[in-house]
Amino acid sequence: MIRTVTWVLAVLLLIAVIGFAVYQTPAGQDALFERAVTTMLVRTAAPPEGLQVVVCGSASPLGNDPDRAQACIAVLTPEHFFLFDTGARSPLRMAEARLPMDRLDGVFLTHFHSDHIASLPDVNLNSWVQGRRDSLRVYGPPGVEDVIRGFNLAYSPDRGYRVAHHGADLLPPAAGPMTAVGIGSGDQIAWQDDLLTVTAFPVRHDPVEPALGYRVDYRDRSVVISGDTVATDSLFTAAAGADLLLHDALSRTLLDPMIEAARAGAPRLARIMTDVIDYHADSRSLEERARAAGVRQLAYYHLVPVPPNALAEKLFARGLSPDTVLVRDLHTFDLPTGSTDILVHAP
Ligand SMILES: [Zn+2]
Ligand SMILES: [Zn+2]
Repeated sequence: MIRTVTWVLAVLLLIAVIGFAVYQTPAGQDALFERAVTTMLVRTAAPPEGLQVVVCGSASPLGNDPDRAQACIAVLTPEHFFLFDTGARSPLRMAEARLPMDRLDGVFLTHFHSDHIASLPDVNLNSWVQGRRDSLRVYGPPGVEDVIRGFNLAYSPDRGYRVAHHGADLLPPAAGPMTAVGIGSGDQIAWQDDLLTVTAFPVRHDPVEPALGYRVDYRDRSVVISGDTVATDSLFTAAAGADLLLHDALSRTLLDPMIEAARAGAPRLARIMTDVIDYHADSRSLEERARAAGVRQLAYYHLVPVPPNALAEKLFARGLSPDTVLVRDLHTFDLPTGSTDILVHAP
């Protein structure tokens, strides 16, 4: 036994010494760098076998954690790739997940709070540079035309420089500006083909009006994305029988002591933290309703406040069912078709 352990330790030490030596030599550095850039620049993730959901942003604006981008959910199938909101820092997560930006089919916006739209110009640019040939379609409630017109105007010089520099054959100018697609504020089908349907439904995020949630059905699998809302009937009606529900969640266990602490020295912050309570869903108000709606997997994103560490995540999860997933950025859910499996991959 002792001999075996000694041998294992010796082999591990040898590997470490060789690894260190490779790292220190120019030839070794070149080889490692070549491998890294091939992964970074060339390979995209393999297409999923069914419906795949990747969390590209799990944070709300309340709190700051560089490991969490603001609201963004990617939904992929073998044929299509859509984003739901594009919060700040979410393009970093798209790159880390090696999402196929060249085949991005569209972006669905839930509402126009800055934490849901801030990275739209980068998503537009990145997908254009990586090979998207048509204008990026951005779907959203009434008002989306103004938002997109504004972004297109602000980034007009940038597009001009890039076409002049790289050429119109590489960056087709018509694919540069985004195209807004208004989809109304009620229940409606927002996008559909033979295999996939995106349904929009109204949620309650007063005074933000309108605000939407979305349901994606692909073959026999489904995911619902809440956007920002309190617990509301329209969502649970739309989520009936869904495989996966990603819901906005606010933790009073975490927030209440923060408000209390802020009252003495930071009254403005205390006021803002108190104001958010009435327009996000209390994390304890959702599990029972999700169960009653027949949702098979409940997961919380857009966490209010953002838990900055493992201890805060424990507090956020306190009182919740162990089956409820508190997502982090790059949490991935695979829903293979012809199956009831829900494969949850923590980052
Ligand atoms: Zn909002
Ligand atoms: Zn938000």
